[in-house]
Amino acid sequence: MPFPVPVKETGDRIFLSAPHMTGNEQKYISEAFESNWIAPMGANVNQFEAEMAAYATTQAAAALSSGTAAIHLALQLLGVGKGDRVFCSSLTFVASANPILYAGAEPVFIDSEEETWNMSPWALQKAFAAAEQEGKLPKAVIVVHIYGQSARMDELIALCDHYGVPIIEDAAESLGSTYKGKKTGSLGAYGIYSFNGNKIITTSGGGMLVSNDRKGVAQARFLASQAKDDAPFYEHSRVGYNYRMSNVLAGIGRAQLEAIELRVSARRAVFSRYFTALGKHEAVKFQPELEGTRSNRWLTVMLLDPARTDRSPDHIREWLDSENIESRRVWKPLHMQPLFAGCKFYSHNPHGKTAVSEKLFAEGLCLPSGSDLKPEQQQRIIALLEEILS
Ligand SMILES: *Cc1c(COP(=O)(O)O)cnc(C)c1O
Repeated sequence: MPFPVPVKETGDRIFLSAPHMTGNEQKYISEAFESNWIAPMGANVNQFEAEMAAYATTQAAAALSSGTAAIHLALQLLGVGKGDRVFCSSLTFVASANPILYAGAEPVFIDSEEETWNMSPWALQKAFAAAEQEGKLPKAVIVVHIYGQSARMDELIALCDHYGVPIIEDAAESLGSTYKGKKTGSLGAYGIYSFNGNKIITTSGGGMLVSNDRKGVAQARFLASQAKDDAPFYEHSRVGYNYRMSNVLAGIGRAQLEAIELRVSARRAVFSRYFTALGKHEAVKFQPELEGTRSNRWLTVMLLDPARTDRSPDHIREWLDSENIESRRVWKPLHMQPLFAGCKFYSHNPHGKTAVSEKLFAEGLCLPSGSDLKPEQQQRIIALLEEILS
């Protein structure tokens, strides 16, 4: 019997998007310890909120335990409840839409368009027209900026304004990205960011809600701290959550945020190297960057044209994995998930033609894109990909 292929030490493994510390994190964590403000509130939380609001160019920010919690609170602030309808991008991580289910609301999924891979204004228009016919417009539209690339915000905002429906921007993957010079996350009624371990900056786990509505953000902080009324004893008039970020983790966030521009340029450099080396291959395409936008290139995603190569994304993923290199398939669209079976979906394409998000799922592969990926490591990945594709 042949021996199994030895798995190389995990120390050698190249990850898709590993945490990248600056070295300053310990300073802020120590401040929290020295002042004994370990939890829950404290100087780091207040400062991190102020620094994030300044960075996002919004009036206010609330530091939370996760990006998912931030979406959940944004839905609460917009009054989304049982039986309400919420439109959401289909090509995204499940966390974009899980809070719709927490609220007891009905998710309706909207396809992508080819130039940004994000919500198609054309499909959104179809969804709005159908919802209007039924007499049931959505209470909110969750627009995701996938892999760091901004959606077509002018078109999406114009449509949502026309129907009087607020936008929640899921900018979990796009901190540092811009749309016509404006930060993603600052363009809707609410924006959310994530500091999960694989995001462009991390607090190990955490999220942020941002908005120009100071009252709304103050209400989010209230809801995130068990909705404790202003009384000399514990009094509660409505349901609350335990969603605040700890002061220790906010310290990590402060140090991480100082490095955001470096992290964006490092990820963009990773993208450029893949693009320069592989972009000329006839079967390979990359996620486009819409004119007037700047992506943080959180992940570099490669598309493989099945008409031009017999190498599938899974084939390449397994090959790279055998070399101890992590890669991942593109998000499986939410309208294809068993969890959301039966939910409505509006395609960008005419009936009978594959939806754009389905095609991206079938053809896409996310390549290692961490800001601390060494050029020699990337050279090795590129050489392997050239070999696999030749
Ligand atoms: C990571 C992510 C989230 C959720 O953020 P958490 O902090 O992990 O809860 C939401 N939406 C998208 C698109 C994400 O990638």
